[in-house]
Amino acid sequence: MRTPQVERAPGLPPEVTIYEVGPRDGLQNEQAIVSAATKVEFIRRLEAAGLQTIETTSFVPATWVPQMGDAEEVLGALGAAGTGPRRPALVPNQRGLDRAEELGLEAIAIFGSATDTFARKNLNRPSAEQYAMFEPVVTRAKADGMWVRAYVSMCFGDPWEGPVPIDQVVDVAERLMGLGCDELSLGDTIGVGTTGHVHRLLEALGRRRIGTDRVAVHFHDTYGQALANTMAALRDGVSVVDASTGGLGGCPYAKSATGNLATEDLVWALTGAGVQTGVDLEQLVATSLWMAAQLGRPSPSNVVRALAGSD
Ligand code: MG
Repeated sequence: MRTPQVERAPGLPPEVTIYEVGPRDGLQNEQAIVSAATKVEFIRRLEAAGLQTIETTSFVPATWVPQMGDAEEVLGALGAAGTGPRRPALVPNQRGLDRAEELGLEAIAIFGSATDTFARKNLNRPSAEQYAMFEPVVTRAKADGMWVRAYVSMCFGDPWEGPVPIDQVVDVAERLMGLGCDELSLGDTIGVGTTGHVHRLLEALGRRRIGTDRVAVHFHDTYGQALANTMAALRDGVSVVDASTGGLGGCPYAKSATGNLATEDLVWALTGAGVQTGVDLEQLVATSLWMAAQLGRPSPSNVVRALAGSD
């Protein structure tokens, strides 16, 4: 069986935008360096499979994340296919924005933290100082006509701090969106969130006028909750979902993390529920199998494994 039986599920949007993070969030957690040529091929295959929004790379210094040290090479090889309003790349600071603008990018993402400990580890500054870091980046990007997404990490729990109060997440989100960002992506970086928590957070954001029309969700499958949490968010009005083809990626701070929600698992669930994604599942699975061969290990995605073994 290559596709699910389609039975329309109530309460879901008619279509969902998949924000594919495999080439950036997925690969940046790979220890072995993947060649620029393989990354380019990966992005081209994702595009051919129907993914419309693809985060391509990151402009963090190569000393921070060696895997992303080839942003210029990857985007240079992609040409026009690597820019455009639906080809964002991660930008940490003004130097990163310079690099993105030199290549003609039209969309970027910044990455904030809901917690102080993670801000210190990932951004090298306390949480309260992240706004000063991102403010000049977002201001210039918006002045130059770019689309800007703000990621917030550790929205549902933090490996050092434990539970993260919803009000704290909303405060951070409000400050980052207040800089002028177009979209907010709520990250469950260690995968501990559950459906009620998702509902409460979306509700609290809505009370501060950050409606689900500007919110995306980014779940990790560490505790097997990524798809359930995503479906809960969709029922609450979210229509942009982050996913990583083949379930690539993990979190360096959660040892057993199985990584991001697999795009294939999401597409299977949405297709069955009658929700349009524009993605060709068979082509996507073929892409994951190809990428798994490049990386030398199988995909953790249930759907990839099931379809790889079926005819
Ligand atoms: Mg992730």
